Amino acid sequence: ATGSDLILDARGITKRFGGFVALNNVDLAVRPGERLGLIGPNGSGKSTLTNCLCGALKTDGGSISFAGRAIDNLSSYQRARLGLGRSFQLPRPFHSLSLLDNLRIPLVYAVNARGGTHLTEQQIRARSTELLGEFGLGGKLHRLPGDLTQVEMRKLELARAMATDPTLLVSDEALAGLSHSEVNEILALLLALNKRGVAVIFIEHIMRAVMAFSERLVVLVAGEKIADGAPKDVIADERVIGAYLGQ
Ligand code: ADP
Ligand code: MG
Repeated sequence: ATGSDLILDARGITKRFGGFVALNNVDLAVRPGERLGLIGPNGSGKSTLTNCLCGALKTDGGSISFAGRAIDNLSSYQRARLGLGRSFQLPRPFHSLSLLDNLRIPLVYAVNARGGTHLTEQQIRARSTELLGEFGLGGKLHRLPGDLTQVEMRKLELARAMATDPTLLVSDEALAGLSHSEVNEILALLLALNKRGVAVIFIEHIMRAVMAFSERLVVLVAGEKIADGAPKDVIADERVIGAYLGQ
């Protein structure tokens, strides 16, 4: 693939924390609509890479282009505005606001940012209600995040990420702590939004979910990319097996 076929083209990403190299010269490319699995042992740099891509952390080297445009100097808000969305490993809802109101801020922000016409109160309501419904939270519109179960909280986190209407969603460990059937529910939601054209970087430890979801797999170990390819080839790679067994 050439740069112009890619929704995300990150090259040579390096990130240090003091003297510690958390990411060393990592390349990551994603095609529009692609489902990319990103795996690696704990501490390998997956969340750090997410933070660098989405603008929560400044990189120490490399370049990132998104939708054909250099985004290195853009804030996380500006990146979100261009269509680069994320969900957090630890969900961060507004705890004092109802689920409906939790969607208001990202919704209004994204529409304004794209130069859309101002949303009316009715339109905000309608779209928030629709999104929460899509994520199975239609019965809890007026509840507070604190009333939600763990899987519902994950759904809220995804609905909030989708409210900015991303073309690429980075999902950082959306399945941690969920039961087998809850994992399947979240997977189905991610597949549904991917079917509508949203590319997904799926960061996950549960291998059955990674294999079910991913069209391509990238492996990070100790801040370096050690494999990138078809999932069945990647999981058979000796270095990948060694990295996991050596944990
Ligand atoms: P993963 O998400 O793959 O589990 P992380 O990206 O969270 O890994 O962390 C990668 C490494 O960077 C770990 O060794 C972690 O301790 C370190 N690290 C992450 N964030 C910081 C930070 N803000 N300051 C110092 N070290 C950090
Ligand atoms: Mg992490």
